[in-house]
Amino acid sequence: MFDNLSDRLQGIFSGLRSKGRLTEDDINAAMREIRMALLEADVNFKVVKEFVASTKARCLEAEILDSLTPAQNVVKVVLDELTALLGQSDSKLVLTSRIPNVIMLVGLQGSGKTTASAKLAYLLKSKGHSPLLVACDVYRPAAADQLQTLGDEMGVKVYRGDGQDPVRIAEEGVRFAIDNLRDVVIVDTAGRLHVDDAMMDEAAAIKAAVKPDQILMVVDAMTGQDVVNVAQAFAEKVEFDGVIMSKMDGDARGGGALSLKQVTGKPIKFISAGEKPDSLEEFHPDRMAKRILGMGDVVSLIEHASKVQAEEIEAETTARMAKAQINLNDFLEIKKQVKKMGGISKLVSALPGGDKAMASGQVDEGALDRMETVIFSMTKYEREHPEVLNGSRRARIAAGSGTTVQEVNQVMKQFHETRKMLKKAMPAAEAMQNGRGKK
Ligand code: GDP
Repeated sequence: MFDNLSDRLQGIFSGLRSKGRLTEDDINAAMREIRMALLEADVNFKVVKEFVASTKARCLEAEILDSLTPAQNVVKVVLDELTALLGQSDSKLVLTSRIPNVIMLVGLQGSGKTTASAKLAYLLKSKGHSPLLVACDVYRPAAADQLQTLGDEMGVKVYRGDGQDPVRIAEEGVRFAIDNLRDVVIVDTAGRLHVDDAMMDEAAAIKAAVKPDQILMVVDAMTGQDVVNVAQAFAEKVEFDGVIMSKMDGDARGGGALSLKQVTGKPIKFISAGEKPDSLEEFHPDRMAKRILGMGDVVSLIEHASKVQAEEIEAETTARMAKAQINLNDFLEIKKQVKKMGGISKLVSALPGGDKAMASGQVDEGALDRMETVIFSMTKYEREHPEVLNGSRRARIAAGSGTTVQEVNQVMKQFHETRKMLKKAMPAAEAMQNGRGKK
């Protein structure tokens, strides 16, 4: 997702950086290139036009042209504008005080509704809620079974009803939630292959019956800027509050995500990227904009890591990580979690410039296993006191693990780099967390 756009924009910026001072002509040329890059990413042409106009106006302001690093300031303007385009700050799911809260999901067939319903339930469960899934897609024969399977996997109850009337099933589902002390009801509705009246009427009838606190529309990121048309059609009949954009892990060009808010006024609230239950994330426009501009998404990475940590990493490791005083046992523990978090690829792609490293094949997943073998060949004392690993100890470890001294040195280098990175990342992460907490 966004790969091409990201490459193009980064190319444009490095062109600007090489110039030092920027003239109006330089800005105009860069804006023309940005315009092309956005159009090629399938962003709606009106959105592109407005985006380029406001970005250009800001870039031509004297303080940017005259600043010491004009190129950096241009990047900052583009970052701000891109963030605004993706939807600013109202992108969170806010539950109302009503119990049970009812969230209804609508969208075309195949958009990823059923999957998203289950993932949303999983996310809510992980935040301490007790969700109930309600299967209202009575037309697609396997839909309720699919939801049931996903619910079973995630430990979330699924209400299926036994009739064929989706409105009744939705109402019964809400009653079931009240009787069984569930605080959030997620209603998965039926979709059709194309926008049609029957689908809209049914969604409107379910809406009237259960009065959802939130209606989220699920759209497939691969649909490109066409999502805008589908969203507008839904908005006319079933006013919805926000969007879950699915299949962000695919190779969509990103036009849908970049056009949606501006054209429909509806924010993206969640993005779904993958098959795993925890692959539904709250959408943060600022972080996404940074990723597009190759600045990485370190905050999401740290959040994801701390979620895994909270559940799994030994408390001692977490404490030493916080102080950036890890030893080799902690290093093993961290690497184990890296595997759980989707491997090195996922981690690297979230780091600044990481997408490029991935694309150029610099990422070696097998390295984790080799590293484990090396560390397993060390004594307990050596793992806890890596500073004692002199030449002769390294030679012994290499022989014991069937590797070479160079490979042992490589592991130690990675270990020291990780420790260095933690030293830098921990205060930054803390500052970001504190900063957000104050808002
Ligand atoms: P529905 O008809 O709208 O309920 O769509 P489904 O939830 O059944 O999803 C349609 C297909 O897309 C299924 O094969 C899902 O596994 C797949 N899918 C859904 N969400 C994602 C996602 O975020 N990433 C990927 N790669 N596939 C997804």
